Amino acid sequence: MSSHEGTEEQDPVTRYLRMLTELSDLRRRGGTLRFGLPSVTVSDIASQFYCERKVELRYTIGRIRTKEMMDGATRHVGLVERAAYEPPEKILRSALLGKPTWASEVFLLSKFRNVFVTGKPDAVVFEEGKPLRVVEYKFTGTKTPTHYHHVQARVYCLILKKLGLDTSALRYAIVLIPPDLVPDFRKISKLIVGETSKENVFLWDPDWERARAELDWALQYWRGEREAEPTTNRGRCERCEYREMCV
Ligand code: SF4
Repeated sequence: MSSHEGTEEQDPVTRYLRMLTELSDLRRRGGTLRFGLPSVTVSDIASQFYCERKVELRYTIGRIRTKEMMDGATRHVGLVERAAYEPPEKILRSALLGKPTWASEVFLLSKFRNVFVTGKPDAVVFEEGKPLRVVEYKFTGTKTPTHYHHVQARVYCLILKKLGLDTSALRYAIVLIPPDLVPDFRKISKLIVGETSKENVFLWDPDWERARAELDWALQYWRGEREAEPTTNRGRCERCEYREMCV
């Protein structure tokens, strides 16, 4: 398959705008996915690979915010708040025309197996009219990215491909930021666009087949084709804020 995965239209921004309209109509009419949702977020898809039952409990019981989550969210805002707000289609259009762009938290969407998948990657870096990096910051004590970090970044890459962007130069960067470190954004940015993984910045080529298989598995749940699967990792259960309610 070519690097342009889209088919019926050649202009990614036109395709993007058409999907925004379709999704907005669907939101008005009401969705047909689990919990009446019109779309699935990339963040939920990644969380399914941590524990799918936990994702379900968030919807049925409600989100329980832990102190770690609040701390992580505050630090995360510090890394992405530099972005000035502009409509996503304007950012995409100028990036695709060749303007070097660091697009923080730009809203992305595409449709897979007739399901809208949406999300805001921490950043997408564009150079020479192509997406060069999808970037995800993770505030964690782990030394290497975990599977669900990869899932999240890979699905964002897949969305860009499905929109019809030229993904021939695209890699993803997972930046692990230990809880006790004050991130140096300037230094991290240079590493992100570098050639090799260095320090806490991990660069990967997207594995398209794996991304499609992971997305297919995740969407089966949202389409009601199977029940939520609990994790088999007991350590995750011990740290889980839903453990008393999980049967
Ligand atoms: S207790 Fe374990 S299986 Fe249950 S929701 Fe939490 S992490 Fe998942």
